[in-house]
Amino acid sequence: MHPPALVRARQQAARVQQPFRFVEVREHLQPVGDGVQAAETFFFHGPTLADNGSGLKRALPPGRGASSFRLRMTFSSRSRVWLLAMLFLGLAPVACEKKDPLVEKRFKLLLEENARLRGAAAAIDPKSGGSVAPVANFTPAETAKLVAENDRLREVLDKHQKAAALEANKGQREAVEKQVTEIRGLEFKEPVDYQVLNRKEIKATISGKLAEVFSVEEFRHMADAMAAIGLLPANYPLRGKYIDLLGEQVAAFYDQHQHKLVMYEDATLDNAQNRVVLAHELTHALQDQHFGLKKLPLEIKTNDDRASAASALVEGDATLVMSEFMLKNMSKQMFKDSMVASFTQNMKQLETAPRFLREMLVFPYLRGQEFCAAIYGLGGYEAVSAAYAQPPTSTAQILHPQKYLATPREEPIEITWADTKVKGEAPIGDNVVGEMGTRILFTEWLDAATGEKAGAGWRGDRYLYFGGGEALIWKTVWGSAEEAAEFFQAEQKMLTKRHGLTVTRQEEGRFEADGPRVIRLRQTPANVVIVIDAKNVEWATALDALK
Ligand SMILES: [Zn+2]
Repeated sequence: MHPPALVRARQQAARVQQPFRFVEVREHLQPVGDGVQAAETFFFHGPTLADNGSGLKRALPPGRGASSFRLRMTFSSRSRVWLLAMLFLGLAPVACEKKDPLVEKRFKLLLEENARLRGAAAAIDPKSGGSVAPVANFTPAETAKLVAENDRLREVLDKHQKAAALEANKGQREAVEKQVTEIRGLEFKEPVDYQVLNRKEIKATISGKLAEVFSVEEFRHMADAMAAIGLLPANYPLRGKYIDLLGEQVAAFYDQHQHKLVMYEDATLDNAQNRVVLAHELTHALQDQHFGLKKLPLEIKTNDDRASAASALVEGDATLVMSEFMLKNMSKQMFKDSMVASFTQNMKQLETAPRFLREMLVFPYLRGQEFCAAIYGLGGYEAVSAAYAQPPTSTAQILHPQKYLATPREEPIEITWADTKVKGEAPIGDNVVGEMGTRILFTEWLDAATGEKAGAGWRGDRYLYFGGGEALIWKTVWGSAEEAAEFFQAEQKMLTKRHGLTVTRQEEGRFEADGPRVIRLRQTPANVVIVIDAKNVEWATALDALK
């Protein structure tokens, strides 16, 4: 069984041999034909970023490293189980390498790398360098030992580098900490727990953090439901895109689960912009120590609107502190450069994302800062701190702080159904779009003015989404009949534009179409607008009967 062994061999060789740099192996499984079979694809990426995706290298057969590569292997499920078992037991590589002309060369490269790593490790600590030189002649067992030893040495060096990085910027960190506590008017109750990670580890950490909150399936359902409303393209790879955006966007982040401030290894604090980012993240550490970030509904699964509002308090507060930190520490030119840099950086990463994702990611920072500034204006940071006891509950409150500040507060109207099962099926999406989401929806499909107008007056909403594009019901409630009518008209326009509908009934407060999607749109005297978008009349009728 050559393939998996070669993957391993190449992976190792790639660590030391340029220009063939291994970046990643992806595996995906899918049924092939009617038998239960699995297809696997291994990708090898090129030596530079520019090569990724385009300069894919061929892994098989051996020796043809330069041509472009996309390999598909089909195995019966039984041979696949066997293959994977071999791979995991490490038997396949050993059995294979004997026949592979690459392995001797690889062994030499591993030896060279070992000498280099041992030298570097010994320079830090004579004990960690390893005293015994490895056997100079190739055997599969020696190769395995060498790989393990090199991994160990790399880890020693990595740990040292990170500790050195933390030690080196200790003074700079403490200076930023001091300023942040002065600006925010809160003291650290305990020392900030810093952790340094490299870019690769950051992505894994972010991915792991997301996995703690949402399963891959939940992400899929979320993306599908948003696509059904019109917020995302169909089959959008939400999870992957999200990890990419988060992983590349920042120089540091605060992990409220571990209560740690994570800094990127390559983000030096000699750089003024990284100090600004640190000031932002340190504010999160202060929030966590004083108010407990986990107490906020930041990860609530059935109300995205409420989660965005809570996030806007947290991020708006930190962005406000960050802005003040910038003003205090930077010359006008630096301030300008830094703003430009952070905007262009973000825009590069964000510009390929759909509007909904782009705007919802930026929302907590920009709108949150405006919201917090409004509260700050009334009572300084003390008033901002007090807001954590009663966090904002809707993006409508963030967009219009007077709704939050009014007595009594204008709270969203909760929408519920006695039983959400339709045709015996439970919904796979049950969530709230909110004013901001509604605004983005119509901005995307119609225009910004319509988006703002149609979203305004939002008092509450909830949607239920049923599997595989079968059906969506979206119930919304508005501040007045006029507000409800504005939403009704925008939704009718948007659905017509999206689906190219055959309209069957159109009168005041009622709009129906029977193809290609079955649409039932109606406005009630209670300022409620109900949207039903189903694949057939059966589903539409069943949703219409939902109480
Ligand atoms: Zn933040």
